[in-house]
Amino acid sequence: MRNLKPSLFSPYENAFSPAEPLSGYAFSLCGGPCAGLFRIEDGEMLKNLVQCCIRESVPYKVLGGMTNILISDEGFDSIVFLNRKGSISHTIQNDGSILLEADSGASMAGAVRYCIENGISGLEWAAGLPGTIGGAVCGNAGAFGAEISQIFSSGTVIDENGSVRTIDNADMNFAYRSSAMKHQSNKNILLKAVFHLEKGLKEQISAKGETYKETRRNTQPIDQHSLGSVFKNPEGESAGKLIQAAGLKGFTIGKAQVSMKHANFITTEKGVTSTDYHRLVVHVQKTVFEQFRVLLEPEIEMLGFELK
Ligand SMILES: Cc1cc2nc3c(=O)[nH]c(=O)nc-3n(C[C@H](O)[C@H](O)[C@H](O)COP(=O)(O)OP(=O)(O)OC[C@H]3O[C@@H](n4cnc5c(N)ncnc54)[C@H](O)[C@@H]3O)c2cc1C
Repeated sequence: MRNLKPSLFSPYENAFSPAEPLSGYAFSLCGGPCAGLFRIEDGEMLKNLVQCCIRESVPYKVLGGMTNILISDEGFDSIVFLNRKGSISHTIQNDGSILLEADSGASMAGAVRYCIENGISGLEWAAGLPGTIGGAVCGNAGAFGAEISQIFSSGTVIDENGSVRTIDNADMNFAYRSSAMKHQSNKNILLKAVFHLEKGLKEQISAKGETYKETRRNTQPIDQHSLGSVFKNPEGESAGKLIQAAGLKGFTIGKAQVSMKHANFITTEKGVTSTDYHRLVVHVQKTVFEQFRVLLEPEIEMLGFELK
């Protein structure tokens, strides 16, 4: 790990935390150290620190809830910005539609709550979706037939040169669980997102959200640690069904297990290593390929491993 002087990040030197293990922040409970970590307080701090890293040629990575990323036990030699704070507001347009503006560090749960409180419809499908707005936009998160790409209107980003600019939906190249942001890490770091939503009735929005949460409770191991769906669904197929058909439900390596409730989830327990998790991913991929000639593509991001 590179040894960085906190003074490099002035005036944020007191917020610098060197060589932090990421397992303490990851929803998977595993992950090695990084060169240094900052807990981001607001967009201004994120922008200034990204600009500082660019100026000093220090590699950096922004992480949100860490609910969709696996970092190797060796960790990675980079600064991590843990972006978990942010606010949400909205404006009503002349045509009655609503623009919801959210800081990238705001939680998706907070955004869903905000929508219920203010009678805003269009984000109900995200009830129960863990993580932040930044992570959801980057991965084009989706559920129940809806996804971020359908509501994303524009975003404020800091680009690879440190300039702040506005991007729109077309710039994002959204695809299934993917976007330009995901594939060109650090080209654009999201500071804020604007979503195009509609007015609705609080009771109906809340009831719809509850139904989606109930479905998740019934079909996913939400009371355990995981990274959500590990693999993308192949065209016309369900990754979970293939994994289940391969007889892998309950298959365990170390403290990582193919969930008994949903075969496309790997659940973890305290003491798990990223190596356990990664070996299980490779085993599942190999077994499904041998049995069905289908190569499952990971939906989760894996940093520091050979298999991407
Ligand atoms: C129980 C469970 C259920 C889940 N269900 C779903 C589901 O239904 N649908 C679904 O799509 N996903 C699901 N997931 C996966 C995950 O929750 C989502 O993908 C979520 O949107 C990731 O957000 P995050 O903040 O945790 O991102 P992280 O895991 O922290 O980061 C993911 C990627 O986003 C990038 N990123 C984060 N913030 C920014 C930013 N500000 N600017 C640029 N890039 C950024 C990171 O660098 C990283 O590359 C589930 C996960 C769990 C644990």
